[in-house]
Amino acid sequence: MTAPTVTAAELLDALPALAPYARTATLLKPSADSPGPHRSSVGGPPLWPADEPWPRCRQPHLVYVREKLTDAEREAWQSIGRNRRERHRPGNARVLTAEEAETQSRIMDGGSLDLVTWERVRLVPRPVPGDGLPMVPVLRLHSRDAPALDWPPGTDLLQLLWCPQDHAEPEGQPRYWGPVVQLRYQASVEAVRPAGGPPVHYGAKGVYLPAPCRLEPVEVLDLPEQDELPEELYESVEQWAAERGTDYNRVLGCLPGWKAGGWPSWHLTDFTPLDCRCGARMRLLLTLDSGGDPGLNVGRYGELRVFCCPEDPGHPMRLNVQ
Ligand SMILES: [Zn+2]
Ligand SMILES: [Zn+2]
Repeated sequence: MTAPTVTAAELLDALPALAPYARTATLLKPSADSPGPHRSSVGGPPLWPADEPWPRCRQPHLVYVREKLTDAEREAWQSIGRNRRERHRPGNARVLTAEEAETQSRIMDGGSLDLVTWERVRLVPRPVPGDGLPMVPVLRLHSRDAPALDWPPGTDLLQLLWCPQDHAEPEGQPRYWGPVVQLRYQASVEAVRPAGGPPVHYGAKGVYLPAPCRLEPVEVLDLPEQDELPEELYESVEQWAAERGTDYNRVLGCLPGWKAGGWPSWHLTDFTPLDCRCGARMRLLLTLDSGGDPGLNVGRYGELRVFCCPEDPGHPMRLNVQ
């Protein structure tokens, strides 16, 4: 027996109290293709206003560095190993003293050890040379494909570019680790192929370079997860879904995948509301997903979500990975 197919619209009919929480979202559904410059796309050809410089990242990048241990560090590490072996007896679970554990973590300094070369391997932020590194186009969305978004007057094109490197808590993004994102609303008539091609980002991380895809946008109703609904209402929602043999989360609400608008899922961390510096509760603008045809991998195969201020799209965005 196959599970009955139910929709968010049927759920709203059954529970009208949910209506104020319903948002129109657009599932973007990227699929491998060579998208032309004038269509919505993931990883499409570069377009930018001719009179504006191509965006660049000037934030420090995280790079792996290998550092030779000092003789003293190496001796301390080896002596801990010898002591452990001497102490090790069946039934003796305690393999490291607190002092030894402290010494090891000081030697590793947040990284790991290569015991063949006796090097410490760490990710450290490194300043970007000169004028910064060019960003790469990730998502291009025309207003005709996501009319429910709040388009600033005079714009019909939303571009998301990012720096295909890891950054630890870049400017304005506390508790975020990943590519630095640039978001721009533009007029599509002004966006043209850069003369001579866009600058090349040498040394990009492959997992942050999307394979070219066209989009097949579908408008849907999206609903929030448990923590963003009143408790009693959520209980009714869950019961309604269970009686129809389906789940609410990720099936009827917090829809997964590449998405414009809608509601975010908080499946890895607890619900973490993001507030703009103006005090407004921020809203989900875009969700970029790992895997599938674009072939990205953000935050251990997760979703990168871009939140914006509902009062003014010009206020700084916030990034979050789940
Ligand atoms: Zn960068
Ligand atoms: Zn704001």
